Amino acid sequence: MFRERVFADATSGYEDAGFVIFGVPFDATSSFRYGSREAPDVIRKASYNFETYNDFFDVDLTDLYIHDLGDLDLDTHTGDMLYAVYDVTAMILRDGKIPIVLGGEHTLTYGCVKAFTEAFNDPVPDFGVIILDAHLDLRDEYLGARQSHACVSRNIIDDLTDNCVLIGVRSGSAEEYAHAKERGILWHSADEVDDAGMESVIRESLDALSGRGCERIYLSIDTDVIDPAYAPGVGNPEPFGLSPRDVRAAIRLAAPYACGFDIVEVNPGYDHGESAMLGARLVREFIAAKSVCTC
Ligand code: MN
Ligand code: MN
Repeated sequence: MFRERVFADATSGYEDAGFVIFGVPFDATSSFRYGSREAPDVIRKASYNFETYNDFFDVDLTDLYIHDLGDLDLDTHTGDMLYAVYDVTAMILRDGKIPIVLGGEHTLTYGCVKAFTEAFNDPVPDFGVIILDAHLDLRDEYLGARQSHACVSRNIIDDLTDNCVLIGVRSGSAEEYAHAKERGILWHSADEVDDAGMESVIRESLDALSGRGCERIYLSIDTDVIDPAYAPGVGNPEPFGLSPRDVRAAIRLAAPYACGFDIVEVNPGYDHGESAMLGARLVREFIAAKSVCTC
């Protein structure tokens, strides 16, 4: 681990912390634009823009116990990255804390979910995954790699758990859409969120997961789920996306069930800081939302 600066208000030691942040500066399988490896530090820097007080939840982040472990020390080997992410997430869960991961490309989510699968699998799996993403990420391989950002949902569903819902989707190959149908994968399009509202979509998703016995969830936010007008600095921008308010609503509604959170695919080289700023703010919203839960 190395650490230049901590996320704003992450002033607690590890032992006392309820929330533990770590960064994954990894973008080796990125297909269109590299640069998300720079995001963890840029998101940390952006986090100092905000007031410590969250008026919606009446919570001051300085009153909470947040620790920032820094960034994983990584090279470009995907398997090593996934193992390191898994290992740190598993440690945080064992210690009864909530992991918050700053990506990096979406591939890393597999390592987090693997740790959750093992932590909450006894005697039966009782956790699910909600992924907000413009893309289905259901390819079985991409550019010769099976562990790629374009395959992350496929790998999670195939290897780890099919208690998984995708929200905000508006892009995928014909094969991916066909696979989703065949496998009965639960997904909601960005248009559906626009028509029905995020509250209805997220409630339906949480109900579907709880109907399968999932009391807890892991929440993964691929920043490209947000419209490029608001978040242009991402690896694969996709128009007709969600608004930042939609994503904030999803976080507020899902937080009571969420035991882990990541924000991935911010690519700071392609905008003027908007996407990292939004990423930092969404992390702060998650922490505030989760801190008021009695669960
Ligand atoms: Mn993705
Ligand atoms: Mn995506």
